[in-house]
Amino acid sequence: MGLKGLVIKSTGKYYEVLDPETDKIYTCSIKGKFRIKGIKTTNPLAVGDKVYFETTNKEGVIYQIEQRKNYIIRKSVNLSKQAHIIASNIDQCLLVATISQPTTSTGFIDRFLITAEAYNVPVVLVFNKSDLLSKTEHDYCDKLQKIYTDIGYKCLATSVKSGDGIEDVKKLMKGKINMISGHSGVGKSSLINKIEPSLDLKTTNISGYHHKGQHTTTFAEMFPLSFGGFIIDTPGIKGFGLVDMNKDNLFHYFPEIFKLSEQCKYNNCVHINEPGCAVKQAVDDQISESRYRNYETIYNDLEADQTYRIDPYK
Ligand code: GDP
Ligand code: ZN
Repeated sequence: MGLKGLVIKSTGKYYEVLDPETDKIYTCSIKGKFRIKGIKTTNPLAVGDKVYFETTNKEGVIYQIEQRKNYIIRKSVNLSKQAHIIASNIDQCLLVATISQPTTSTGFIDRFLITAEAYNVPVVLVFNKSDLLSKTEHDYCDKLQKIYTDIGYKCLATSVKSGDGIEDVKKLMKGKINMISGHSGVGKSSLINKIEPSLDLKTTNISGYHHKGQHTTTFAEMFPLSFGGFIIDTPGIKGFGLVDMNKDNLFHYFPEIFKLSEQCKYNNCVHINEPGCAVKQAVDDQISESRYRNYETIYNDLEADQTYRIDPYK
């Protein structure tokens, strides 16, 4: 009998596949080839894959994969042409940021958003530790939320300590496959424990804590949320990994700049110094100064160093 399921764990040898209709989990092997066009992958299937499988009892054989809507990969260090698929079909990534203790810079946020755009994963910005903010910091947080909301990113303010905004986070996560990223210390583990206390032990990886030199496996795992949906734990991966980008296309990953670029005088305008650039004219109006400044900085980095890779965590 053929069933459709979701790969929730992969060990490289076998896969755990959840049948959402019955909530049963099957241990499956694969039959046939599952290749992505254009890249060689070290693993044919990953967590998040939607697959078809045949089963007799508790075991099954996967014979087909549904097209992935997105996937994140890590390039193999030794074999540069090989890539490892870490997870697929991610509905959204929650980027946890803090205005203070620690400060998350807009440079980090914007670099992160570029990598997420490149991987086609929607991002929700969660500004945590709202209980710690002074009046000035609150105003700044509101300002940031307005900037990113206007571009099209969902934003939330939360405090794990007071409980503010936690229900909104749950509502957003419900029924979806979620990833959580952000700098160390912003409250990722605390947030996860708050929304799903039973995940406490299992999610130590999400906090980004790893021993130096420790061999980190790259097999991700999905944990079900009691209110519906999943959290993906990607060991050793805090964001989406490095992204190679051509400086001339950089603006494609800034949605608001991309939108305005249609109005630029020159077809190949890169929005740096061109006369009649609609983007430059809109800075401090439709385009926030900090977003444009970060665009310029990253553009210059890409121009100065051809091997520069966008890595928000660097
Ligand atoms: P992670 O590294 O992102 O997983 O961060 P943790 O969850 O380990 O949190 C780092 C520190 O921030 C811990 O001491 C938490 O108790 C604290 N923390 C987390 N969320 C909040 C919050 O909303 N308000 C305050 N005041 N502290 C928080
Ligand atoms: Zn322009």
